[in-house]
Amino acid sequence: VSPADSPVHALRRSVAEAPDRTFLAYFDGRLSHREVDELSDSVAGHLAARGVVRGDRVAVLLQNSPQFVLAVLGAWKAGATVLPVNPMYKSGEVSHVLRDGEVAALVCSDRAWEAYLRETAAGSTVRVVLTACELDLQTRNDERVLAFERLPQAPDADDLVTVARAGHEAPGDRDPAPSDIALISYTSGTSGAPKGATNTHANIMYNAERQRTGLALPGVPVYFAMAPLFHITGMVCQLAACLNSAGTLVLAYRFEAGVVLDAFAEHRPHYTVGPSTAFMALAAHPSATRDHFSSFHVISSGGAPLPPALVERFRAGFGPYIRNGYGLTECSAPCAAVPPGLEAPVDPASGTLAVGVPGPDSVVRIVDDEGHEVPLGEQGEILVRGPQVVPGYWRRPEATAETFPDGELRTGDIGFMDRQGWLYVVDRKKDMINASGFKVWPREVEDVLHTHPAVREAAVVGVPDGYRGETVKAYVSLAPGADEDPDALAAYCKERLAAYKYPRQVEILPDLPKTASGKILRRELRSR
Ligand code: ATP
Repeated sequence: VSPADSPVHALRRSVAEAPDRTFLAYFDGRLSHREVDELSDSVAGHLAARGVVRGDRVAVLLQNSPQFVLAVLGAWKAGATVLPVNPMYKSGEVSHVLRDGEVAALVCSDRAWEAYLRETAAGSTVRVVLTACELDLQTRNDERVLAFERLPQAPDADDLVTVARAGHEAPGDRDPAPSDIALISYTSGTSGAPKGATNTHANIMYNAERQRTGLALPGVPVYFAMAPLFHITGMVCQLAACLNSAGTLVLAYRFEAGVVLDAFAEHRPHYTVGPSTAFMALAAHPSATRDHFSSFHVISSGGAPLPPALVERFRAGFGPYIRNGYGLTECSAPCAAVPPGLEAPVDPASGTLAVGVPGPDSVVRIVDDEGHEVPLGEQGEILVRGPQVVPGYWRRPEATAETFPDGELRTGDIGFMDRQGWLYVVDRKKDMINASGFKVWPREVEDVLHTHPAVREAAVVGVPDGYRGETVKAYVSLAPGADEDPDALAAYCKERLAAYKYPRQVEILPDLPKTASGKILRRELRSR
């Protein structure tokens, strides 16, 4: 089978192959591949009738629900580019994205439309609005997950599900070409205003196809969407990859450990991917058992550092080996992963777990500050070239030239490569702590903290210090039932790390702040 050109093409293929197979499972609700195809056709027809033309931008602010999938596929079938937006964004953040993307149509929850998006969208380029009550396609009214009531339909918006069920015909001539921009994925904007990475259909499908051929999942794979679909990992490794294998995608609104475990028990998934913090939360949940994980063929962690101690604790407690994977929005999710059947080595000198090996068509180089390649084993910035690397940022020629000189992605991550070809990520260049002129990489200290049984989550940052310039501070949340003294945790690190590396300060918090995609927000801790 030749790889599909776009997720729309993949859906057409799965409809031809297995029309009645469940594509989306959402609590007690099910939609087949054919149903999703018909419903998304109707959304596309509506968008086109409302004046959305090829290349227009459609912003989607929804959680992991069937409505998200219908909105995205409908937009692609109308020839549009999707801007997936975190539904937890506040008005100012959404406003930036709507204006920067010159968005023509907006799909959001009816509750968010009433609460703040109507006001946010006023005066922007948005001319078509679809609202969704994310409860509509599921039958179980699960208060833990969705506590809102169906609101009366807003007078200035159409209801997504009504539109999807209206049976409009999709425009016949808008199928995406491989080089069309499928997504404008906004970065979290750590360094200035968020920039939109332009993931093409070819970028996305390259990674989806690598996953299909590389993971050796069963013929009809069941995917569990643990990562949010609005994040590139969820979009590519869950939605596009599942479509590309004509599989079943289990959705559960948003990550909540207890709900996720129930869904594992009910749907028996073969594959999932999430940030390491999700696995920490699952492992700490009182009802988690080995049985919950017994259906999995592959479990991957990506998008954030994976502490080796978590991998071991998870395997000992629940069975599966968590496969590390390294990716960025700018390379459409993964660019290196641990091949099935192998286990990532731990670098003996630094204790770092390898993130994987680069894919067959990707070239990874490690360079010094002058851009010269460093010898194997030495640290430098990771550069990536390959079919999954985006052509650039949306309408940002300067940032594009800076981050993608000659089409090669400068990741901003420091790493090294060993003789066997394993890639290691040391940390983000900008997160380095400079303590009395010594370089401290937060991840190394976090890995040590994670070996302590009382530690659930750990994040290490540099804080200003009159004497050292910066000093190392650790924020920790504790495992259920643990009651560890901060000084004892500092002493534990002191025994295991060089004097300049161990955290002079340890603060215990009930929970660490995270992005919606589950990454610990070191910058928020730094500014405390
Ligand atoms: P922004 O670019 O706005 O700061 P972000 O960097 O979090 O946001 P993403 O594209 O979601 O945006 O994340 C990519 C980053 O995540 C990588 O550059 C790297 O620092 C980190 N990362 C991803 N996978 C791993 C991994 N397996 N181990 C360590 N770090 C990882």
